[in-house]
Amino acid sequence: MPSYTPPVKDLQFVLHDVLNVTGSETPGYDELEADFTSAILEEAGKLTSGVLAPLNTVGDKEGCRLENGVVYTPKGFKEAFAQVKEGGWPGLDMPEQYGGQNMPYVIGTAVGEMFSAANQAFTMYQGLTHGAASAILAHGTDAQKDTYLPKMVACDWTGTMNLTEPHCGTDLGLMRTKAAPQDDGSYKITGQKIFISSGEHDMADNIIHLVLAKIEGGPEGIKGVSLFIVPKFMVNEDGSLGERNGVAVGSIEEKMGIHGNSTCVMNYDGATGFLLGEEHKGMRAMFTMMNEARVGVGMQGLAQADVAYQNALEYAKDRLQGRAVTGAEAPDKPADPLIVHPDIRRSLMDQKSFAEGARAFILWGATMIDAAHRAGDKDADGLVSLLTPVIKGFLTDQGYDMTVKAQQIYGGHGYIEEWGMSQFTRDARIAMIYEGANGVQALDLVGRKLAQDGGKHVMAFFDLVKGFIKDNAGQDADYDAAFLDPLKAASKDLQQAGMYFMQNGMKNPNHALAGSNDFMHMFGHVCLGLMWARMGLAATKALKDGTGDAAFFETKLATGRYYMARQLPATALHLTRIQSGADTVMALEAANF
Ligand SMILES: Cc1cc2nc3c(=O)[nH]c(=O)nc-3n(C[C@H](O)[C@H](O)[C@H](O)COP(=O)(O)OP(=O)(O)OC[C@H]3O[C@@H](n4cnc5c(N)ncnc54)[C@H](O)[C@@H]3O)c2cc1C
Repeated sequence: MPSYTPPVKDLQFVLHDVLNVTGSETPGYDELEADFTSAILEEAGKLTSGVLAPLNTVGDKEGCRLENGVVYTPKGFKEAFAQVKEGGWPGLDMPEQYGGQNMPYVIGTAVGEMFSAANQAFTMYQGLTHGAASAILAHGTDAQKDTYLPKMVACDWTGTMNLTEPHCGTDLGLMRTKAAPQDDGSYKITGQKIFISSGEHDMADNIIHLVLAKIEGGPEGIKGVSLFIVPKFMVNEDGSLGERNGVAVGSIEEKMGIHGNSTCVMNYDGATGFLLGEEHKGMRAMFTMMNEARVGVGMQGLAQADVAYQNALEYAKDRLQGRAVTGAEAPDKPADPLIVHPDIRRSLMDQKSFAEGARAFILWGATMIDAAHRAGDKDADGLVSLLTPVIKGFLTDQGYDMTVKAQQIYGGHGYIEEWGMSQFTRDARIAMIYEGANGVQALDLVGRKLAQDGGKHVMAFFDLVKGFIKDNAGQDADYDAAFLDPLKAASKDLQQAGMYFMQNGMKNPNHALAGSNDFMHMFGHVCLGLMWARMGLAATKALKDGTGDAAFFETKLATGRYYMARQLPATALHLTRIQSGADTVMALEAANF
């Protein structure tokens, strides 16, 4: 059975040596001393490796089951959920006013990575609740906040997001679910939603569904969509639970992965709903939840890649096959371990350098979300908004690829369920699809985010990379050659791709959109390149100062050098593809495929 070791030391390195969180002016960051964050991460680590990880295989094998309208989660989930709640983990970064601990989002993110790696299906119950609570926090009335948030922050009540319908997923303007206004100010919601994660289950007293629907008589298309709070059980004035609302699970889906999470068809039959935010501004309110969810899903890509890598590494050290080409390394044994072979090394280095780079990227993103929310920093808000589709799309595409690489290291055993490697691949696959399929993330990046606020944020990104290179060049020739030169080249590729879109996209938008996936990936590589340059700098400095664990920093530098030499140059291929335009992509008539 696979195991999970929480990457506490690496998280600490990113938080303190690279991002220097205590040096930040973001309110609340001054409290994030290394001892303090280490205590939190260690505690979360114990829970994830000791309680959640062992349930991962159970959840996969057993799945959820629907009986007489009740969804039963796999054995052990309920007890583990109680433990998670008791530890106050769901409310870690939620306001104290509603029972949370008000810690910065960056800490919630670091903890969240471990939860997701240990058991993605399980973690989704609290993850969706967090997203729904954030939407209520941002758009709810005081009365709505008081009614729902204390229970949701504690995860006594869980939350869901209901966008998808049988005939519409990406194109939500086609939505048919209706909201009929009532005299008392509430609405009657009628329609069907599909694929609703955590839509029904046995771990909470109440489930608060956030549902997109069209108010009768409102504008056509996406402009007529509003967001509603639809509780499973009505809530009385005194906070106690009242009668059952008109919402019920119709069925649960059989699916490729995340078996421990219930994916439900939800039927709304004149269910009572309460408007959240303004009429017809539902997408705006839902986006509060979706942006957070997209960063969370990007994290799932990293998390599955990391846990799969950890197990592949153990296997590669253990499994004896063949001899090293340069001479036996374990002559006392019948063969050498897999890890001696260069091609196995290549795969492990791909995985390791991705996971550590992605971890830094996500945490950097989380610091910008904190700066935006806690300090009203508009530039940070703009930059993280630009990078959100990259975090979601690049990290989940790559994360999935890395789980396949980890599975491959097991050879045939990776394909056999008993070893547990296929679960990582199957679980990682959904992250490329939900919260906006990755093709749509690329579309969002190229079609919307690049030009947002007159292109200000993408220019800020390029300035940031340029500034970093300028500030740090010339101090250490090895560092410059290994880190700064490749970063400069990759950033230039990205800029050229942006120029290509500007020059050709206006004439024919197909030229931009045919290159959107490549652009998202090259942007992701540049971000990880920047992260590795920052990590390389921190490691170089620590080694020069002689502080800390030298072996850790040497390993960090070697891993970074690998990423810069073997992964980052992918930007050149992406650029070539982008510059070839849309002609070959669009050449065939649909009938000729
Ligand atoms: C396990 C699971 C859990 C889920 N959880 C939830 C949930 O909790 N709540 C919820 O509301 N939904 C949920 N979903 C739904 C999920 O978000 C949608 O499946 C997803 O957004 C894609 O929508 P779709 O399936 O209708 O695909 P479509 O919209 O039909 O898209 C099909 C493909 O075409 C691409 N595409 C579509 N439009 C364009 C375009 N203009 N340009 C280029 N490419 C395009 C997409 O990228 C995709 O690859 C879940 C789905 C699954 C499988």
